Amino acid sequence: MLNLIICGAPGSGKGTQSEKIVEKYHLKHLSTGELLRKEIAENTELGEKAEKYIAKGHLVPDDLIIDMISKEILCEEKRYKGIILDGFPRTLRQAKALDKMLQKKNEKISAFIELHVEEEELISRLLKRGKSSGRSDDNLDVIKNRLEVFQNQTLPIGNYYKKQDKYYKIHGVETIENVFKVITEIVENLENNNIQTA
Ligand code: AMP
Repeated sequence: MLNLIICGAPGSGKGTQSEKIVEKYHLKHLSTGELLRKEIAENTELGEKAEKYIAKGHLVPDDLIIDMISKEILCEEKRYKGIILDGFPRTLRQAKALDKMLQKKNEKISAFIELHVEEEELISRLLKRGKSSGRSDDNLDVIKNRLEVFQNQTLPIGNYYKKQDKYYKIHGVETIENVFKVITEIVENLENNNIQTA
């Protein structure tokens, strides 16, 4: 299986790249942000709890997220060749919980790909997106919180994957096609080296 993590600050383009990866490699796309927005739209108990954190740009508590994602990961869906995780894990605790979930299925993370974009560019992209996305968290105050949370809580988990030789950093201020090309090179390299594609 090919199990990828795409990690990047809000506005780095991880959602866009994930969609392209899904199409090319037939992976199941798991975006915790999307799953949470669906819960909110459906007025579920989880959605109600999560909404307060999302609106402020804070992380939703680990337990809620781990519970939500484990249901998706542990369900048997043989038609996929793996998963692409977009927006998860965002804390070290989530990263460790993810490893345990995959262990239950005799699987592993193949690669952790960090999409790097400078802060100024992120803010400008998110403000632009806010005009059309209708997302309540795409406004300047909340954007600043989200970027701070990313720096302090999410970026450091790269070290966890560096220690396992699974960390790749790519520059995200390129055309969508150029960024995607670099991602496909990483994936093809993994496949050539037979890294966790069994
Ligand atoms: P995103 O669409 O990935 O930018 O996520 C939107 C918001 O959902 C984030 O700002 C968080 O409040 C929440 N969220 C998404 N994924 C996670 C996660 N893995 N852990 C905690 N909170 C999350």
